[in-house]
Parts: sequence; structure tokens; C-alpha cells
Amino acid sequence: MPTFAERFLVAPGKKLRLADIDPRRTPGFDGDKDAGKARTAARNARLEELQELLYANGTRRLLVVLQAMDAGGKDGTIRSVFDGVNPQGVKVACFKKPTDKELAHDFLWRCHPHAPAAGEIAIWNRSHYEDVLVSRVHDLVDETCWRKRYEHIVAFESMLADEGTTVRKFFLHISKDEQRERLQARIDDPKKRWKWSSRDLDERRRWDDYQAAYEEALAATSTAKAPWYVVPADRNWFRDLVVSEILVETLEALDLRLPPEDPDVAGLRVT
Ligand code: ATP
Ligand code: MG
Repeated sequence: MPTFAERFLVAPGKKLRLADIDPRRTPGFDGDKDAGKARTAARNARLEELQELLYANGTRRLLVVLQAMDAGGKDGTIRSVFDGVNPQGVKVACFKKPTDKELAHDFLWRCHPHAPAAGEIAIWNRSHYEDVLVSRVHDLVDETCWRKRYEHIVAFESMLADEGTTVRKFFLHISKDEQRERLQARIDDPKKRWKWSSRDLDERRRWDDYQAAYEEALAATSTAKAPWYVVPADRNWFRDLVVSEILVETLEALDLRLPPEDPDVAGLRVT
């Protein structure tokens, strides 16, 4: 049976058709929501141990990139998957509309300082990919420019990987109907109102343009060193399970060890 990472991987360079991927499907898991949540809890507990090992080991780094359409569930994923990890070793960076200062630089300038340090996990809530997505859909730069950025992104991520950072990228794939319901809930539910932005409606009108931009960007930048995964995300519990499974699989593969023991310490007595 394929692993979750194999199942949801975006094949490098191959045409990707998001319309062919059902955001409600739950391949690789035949249990119900409760069973899914129980399995995610177990995986999260393992993630917690692996994160502690990453931190203690202090040589490797993990970068997790999260991208999605509005209301795609990036915040919820971070909350659910990383709820047990030690906050000391994990940092989240949210990339919003760039400031004037950020715009005065190249598009990677604002991202690089948020790359993880040794022993850390960094989670990017949106990322440098906005510069080939929103920038393309809104014509913020011309086509020659955003197209060239695919190469720069691949080179940047390849450099991170070569220097010891494991890079994993997740596109949380929701349906247009699901987005409607979630945006409507932001209007109707007073507790969610703070998330509402009238911009969401303008962006929703450009749904097809965004899907096309995602399809092309993901196919062009999914590499062995920095793979993309398309996560069916209409069901939150399955989305969390997939991300948790893939991160556990990734960290297990690093074969992390505790730092070597100091032989002089064995047998010491604290008085
Ligand atoms: P949610 O998914 O809950 O709606 P969000 O990530 O959209 O959360 P917001 O504060 O609503 O958070 O929006 C951030 C906005 O910043 C997005 O519309 C995004 O496209 C925009 N943005 C991020 N990076 C860039 C960029 N490089 N250029 C232009 N716009 C950007
Ligand atoms: Mg938004």
C-alpha cells in the first residue's frame, strides 16, 4: 500500500489537474471521522516526540509550507497538527500583503529570515508562492517575471535542502462549494466574523484563475528535494491526518538521534 506521502505527492513536471482530485475523498483510510481523529491524535503524539528529537539533535531543520485558497484551513491545520509540540522549537510565519519595504526588495527577501534554524520547525502560513499566485492572478508583475520565479523558487529550495533543511509543501485543496460555506460562516457566526474580509469575495470570483495558477506552480516546483502534496481538505479531520502522517513519515526518515553522551557524565551523583 502506498504511504500517505506517495499517495498525495505532486509528480514533478507532470501536468496537474486539480479538478480531477476530489477534495472530499479519503484515500488510504477507510475509517470514519472519529477513527480519523483518533489516528491523528496518535500521529500527533509521535510528531511531538520527533520534534523533541529534532530539537535535541540540533543539526537538522524542517520547513513546512502551507498554501490554500481563502478559508482553505491553514490556520486550523497548524492548530490541530502542532497542538502538542513544544512551542520553543516551532515558529510560524504568516505572509500577508507585502509592506512597502518588502516590495522594495526581491520576492524571496522577506521569506528567508523565517527559514528554520538548526533543531527548529518553521511553518509558513502562505509563503514565497504568493508571488507566483496572487501576483499572477492580479497582474502585479508581468508573465515573464512570475514565470522566471519558478526557477528561482526551485533553486532557493534546493539550496535550503542542500544546507540541511528538509522542505515539505502542502496545498490544502478545498472545493468551491466548501469555500462558500466557510466564507458564509464567517459572515453568519459572530465568533468567526473577525476572519471575514470583503476581499475574500473578490478573490472568490477569480477561483478558476487561482486554480490554474496553483496547478502550474505546483507542477513546476514539486521536486525530490522539496515536494508538494495536494491534501484533500473539505473534511478537516482527513486534512489533519494527511499532514500529520506525512510529517511523521518525513521526520522518521531523518533517523534522528540524541546527541552523543558525554562519557564523563555517566555515574555522576548530584549532591
Ligand atoms: P484565510 O485563509 O483564513 O482567509 P489568509 O491567509 O487569507 O487567511 P488574510 O489576512 O485574510 O490571511 O490574507 C492575507 C492576504 O495577503 C492574502 O489575500 C494573500 O493573497 C495576500 N498576500 C500574501 N502574500 C502576498 C504577496 N506576496 N503579494 C500580494 N499579496 C499577498
Ligand atoms: Mg484570507
